[in-house]
Amino acid sequence: MRIGIDPGACEGNAVCEALAPMVFELDDRAQARVIDDVVATDGSVPDEHRPLVERAAEGCPRLAIQISR
Ligand code: SF4
Repeated sequence: MRIGIDPGACEGNAVCEALAPMVFELDDRAQARVIDDVVATDGSVPDEHRPLVERAAEGCPRLAIQISR
């Protein structure tokens, strides 16, 4: 699965981090990012995280998280 975060939409409220703390974190500018440890060398994120990532995407009040494949 690929995860995209729209930096123009993210307002840094950390809902994604609260819902899926093993996948998302806020950077030092309070922008959501995917934690490096869960990103494979090809840029994908293992599907084992999909349920929580979907929950975070649905919970994001700005709909800033996109999931593909
Ligand atoms: S829940 Fe959405 S708006 Fe909030 S930090 Fe995460 S990506 Fe940004």
